[in-house]
Amino acid sequence: MTAKARDYEKLYRRFGASISDTYDCGRMCAPLNGGEPVCCTTGHAVPIVTNQEWKLLKKRSDLWSKFTPYDAATRAIVDDLPDNCRAVECKGAAACERQNRSLACRAFPFFPYFTKEKELVGMAYYWLFEDRCWVISNLHIVEQAYIEEFIASYEYLFSKDEDELEAFLEQSVSARRVFSRWNRPIPLIGRDGGYFKVLPKSGGKISPAKVSEFKPLGPFVSNKAYRDEIEIEGGDPKGKTLKPDWSIKDWWNHD
Ligand code: SF4
Ligand code: SF4
Repeated sequence: MTAKARDYEKLYRRFGASISDTYDCGRMCAPLNGGEPVCCTTGHAVPIVTNQEWKLLKKRSDLWSKFTPYDAATRAIVDDLPDNCRAVECKGAAACERQNRSLACRAFPFFPYFTKEKELVGMAYYWLFEDRCWVISNLHIVEQAYIEEFIASYEYLFSKDEDELEAFLEQSVSARRVFSRWNRPIPLIGRDGGYFKVLPKSGGKISPAKVSEFKPLGPFVSNKAYRDEIEIEGGDPKGKTLKPDWSIKDWWNHD
């Protein structure tokens, strides 16, 4: 059983919320990535869609095209894809069509997290992006409407597609293995809100957590680290700060 193009169409209708209506996270990661949001360039993240989702996207828009690998790593990504999936790329953030974003775009940087008992308990993040995605260092900005739409959309997808369910069960197993190796808890946003942590080397035991336990990571730990990383990436760090200057809220105190 696999989800059809019409199922993705329904899914797009029910999953339109932004991670945050207050913060434009792309403005925080773009200076680390040549001025483009990290998840909107294939330099860091190659979107993967199923063939059925691809069918829908091609019908709706010319925003998307087949991804062409540009090095050994991206060749490996394409070669390792299952037959029912393909790697794609869009025209970039300046040309983004919100209603024609893929499911991968809508969900990033999160994936549905399952316990060992195969219960969908919330959202975990793709850990490979800890050093690039500002949202991962700021889980408190994720809004309830987004969480609800995320969970409802994936539950719908899993009711239609066993392969997708299997893929995220495996992804959750990988998360437990990687974070246990690091001896770090997996930060979780609960399916009904609230924060939790999957304890390392515990067989997947979950405890409640305070969001303040989830510390900023990588270049997001301080203004200095942020500016240093922007410089390393060839950007201009002048005036760049981790305090979002477009926000009316004054919640950040890195200095
Ligand atoms: S989700 Fe993460 S990587 Fe994507 S634009 Fe926001 S901060 Fe950048
Ligand atoms: S469709 Fe939009 S959100 Fe998705 S990768 Fe392209 S620019 Fe980013």
